[in-house]
Amino acid sequence: KSSRISKFCHLSQNSRAITSLQSQSKSYDVIVIGGGHAGTEAATASARSGARTLLLTQKVSTLGELSCNPSIGGIGKGHLVREIDALQGVMGEIADASGIHFRMLNRRKGPAVRGPRGQMDRDLYKENMQDYLLRGADLGIAGIENLDVLEASAEDLLLDEGDEIETLAPLADIAKIEAAGSGEEERLRKAKSLSSAEANASSRRARIKGVVAIESETDSRIEIESKTVILTTGTFLRGVLMIGHERYSGGRHLRDSEEVEPPSVGLALTLERFGFPLGRLKTGTPPRLDGRTIDWDRCNIQPSERPAQPFSHIRQSRGEQPPLAAANTLINCYQTATNEATHKLVMEYAHLLPQYDGMDGKGNGPRYCPSIYKKVERFAERNSHNSFLEPEGLNSHIVYPNGMSGPYPEEIQRQIMRSMKGLEKVEIIRPGYDVEYDFVNPQALTHTLETKSIAGLYLAGQICGTTGYEEAGAQGIIAGANAGRAAYAARIGENAPLPFVLGRDEAYIGVLIDDLVTKGTLEPYRMFTSRAEYRISLRADNADLRLTRKGAEYGLVTDPERLAALDMRETLITDNVERLRDFKLFITDWASRGGDDLSFAAADRPGSEGRKKSAEEVLGMPHVTLKDVEDIMAIVHSEEQTQKTYSDEAYAFNPTPSSVYDTVEASVKYKSYVIRQEKDIESWRKAQGVKIPPTIIYHHSIMPTFSKEEIEKLDRFRPNTFAEASQISGLTPQSLVYLYHHVMRLN
Ligand code: FAD
Repeated sequence: KSSRISKFCHLSQNSRAITSLQSQSKSYDVIVIGGGHAGTEAATASARSGARTLLLTQKVSTLGELSCNPSIGGIGKGHLVREIDALQGVMGEIADASGIHFRMLNRRKGPAVRGPRGQMDRDLYKENMQDYLLRGADLGIAGIENLDVLEASAEDLLLDEGDEIETLAPLADIAKIEAAGSGEEERLRKAKSLSSAEANASSRRARIKGVVAIESETDSRIEIESKTVILTTGTFLRGVLMIGHERYSGGRHLRDSEEVEPPSVGLALTLERFGFPLGRLKTGTPPRLDGRTIDWDRCNIQPSERPAQPFSHIRQSRGEQPPLAAANTLINCYQTATNEATHKLVMEYAHLLPQYDGMDGKGNGPRYCPSIYKKVERFAERNSHNSFLEPEGLNSHIVYPNGMSGPYPEEIQRQIMRSMKGLEKVEIIRPGYDVEYDFVNPQALTHTLETKSIAGLYLAGQICGTTGYEEAGAQGIIAGANAGRAAYAARIGENAPLPFVLGRDEAYIGVLIDDLVTKGTLEPYRMFTSRAEYRISLRADNADLRLTRKGAEYGLVTDPERLAALDMRETLITDNVERLRDFKLFITDWASRGGDDLSFAAADRPGSEGRKKSAEEVLGMPHVTLKDVEDIMAIVHSEEQTQKTYSDEAYAFNPTPSSVYDTVEASVKYKSYVIRQEKDIESWRKAQGVKIPPTIIYHHSIMPTFSKEEIEKLDRFRPNTFAEASQISGLTPQSLVYLYHHVMRLN
């Protein structure tokens, strides 16, 4: 241990790892427990806000660990990463520095639902995170003064003596109500009673006083004072790992090895003692494969996009690619698929799965990241599911088979994998496993992620019922900002700051937190673009425009370069949109110079050839891209230039730079949608009290845009009003708007 720790003793002036608090100050403004994705964002956000912060984590060597898939971002999740980056969080920069394969998912769909995704070199991600946190490495993120890191295990939380704790509705009650199908109005009623309990209790809330921990270096029990604590213990609360019918205690396996990180039992008991509503969830990870035993030629190649788009806004504003992409050191992924033989094995050996998996309903798993068993069972009509084979690093032969989790006994996992094309001789390096763990019903939290019952105690990450690194990081930055600012203000004797809360119309982070704290969750919550009613304006390309200035006003964005990059992008966007507005194209320009969009041709009445349209109007048409329009603009421009006399000023036509391309295109294309969407949402908001007829039929044939899950839930809960309908988890805001129009038509 000592040799590992001594590695971290070369401290920069910006950050430091401490090995023991025995002889040092034992008081901090903020203590963050857990160094996962929520914890690292929370600790750095708190430190940036001015608070003296301690990041206390079980194993310093696992800072930056990607416990499951070696990738960051994706649809909905990529939006979260860019928002974290816009608030100067760490995830985007570290992902850029460690990425070995990049793709913009949904590229062919509209810019609102495009999601940047990067596959990481797993070791490099960890190394970069540790270099930044422990050695103050400059990764383009401004320094983090005020941060200490200690390797220790938190065992208990201390409260101010004599404080009473208001206990909240037990999660089990809510789960029973769901299971009985007696309507989510009850759940709504409970949520409302929680908010009024919160208001009544605010004057006599208990207050956190500190943390009890066992220090790794000295193996001794220490008490550390702090009036503000953020708990981010992920899957560790009373974690149980499972392979087949074998069960053993643990938070997760150490990377690709048999070694298990211990579960967090003391803290689970503390939360129980404090009366928090706890529930059980589970998640799973697939086996890791030996890439040397895969027949790659039998799989379909999935190259990285080139040029690759970065997550970091600073990099984007400079028009730079992520470093390994710029150095042309990217890898290929591959795609294979399950087949009938795979599905036969999956069903034949289902009885060897851990008991809960589809059997008795305990430990709900992630609906949107299901095990292979769940996929085959749920989509019985399909005879194949894709699996992407993702190499875990530049210097690693380990391969992650995406979508293939299923905690069968190892031998069955091997048979399942070997039934797939290209994997006929594959060897498993470490079998996949599931983890079941405690989480806290997030309805026990306010929008700042502070608990309603204990002042100064915040929760963030998987402990709140979410799944995924990005969802965890997003909560971490909000909890860290609020906790940090409040604690800093208290230390220097300032008034308590206003909360840092993002609205549903400002950010996916706002949608995530609002969903969690108002609706709660009974299954691991994952972000999707469909959860956001304002998704046309909440795009991955404009996260900095939406959030960076607000973050700076709050003291969360401290790097002047970020604001300079934002100014630069804003100016470029305005200039390029204005140029499109001012540039007039003739229909003949478009038709004769390669434009093949028929709707544009049709828009021109016969005999009116030559009618002008602005380039902005042309771009607003379906299927026309900014590049299409600018290709024509360049030709028209060059013709105009050749007609100029020597006294006229000549200038070159430069296409919209890549740093603002997506934003310019989206803001022009979506202009009318945004106006319409805002009107829709506004009218729906006014309609909260409108009655839904009790005779309404919920069926896919009548409501084709609704998902199967939405129809099922509406039919089961049969809400009486739109206020009740909006409390049904899993019903998207857009579907509520459709439902509203449907009911209006029925009336
Ligand atoms: P974590 O990243 O788990 O970090 C928790 C941290 O807290 C760890 O550093 C731990 O050491 C520390 N800690 C715990 N207890 C204590 C204590 N008492 N004292 C001090 N430190 C403590 N995500 C997906 O999106 N899809 C998936 O399919 C998926 N499958 C997964 C499968 C498995 C087996 C696991 C383990 C995770 C999976 N994940 C998946 C989840 C993903 O890893 C998490 O969502 C994400 O890491 C959560 O971040 P977090 O910060 O909340 O917690």
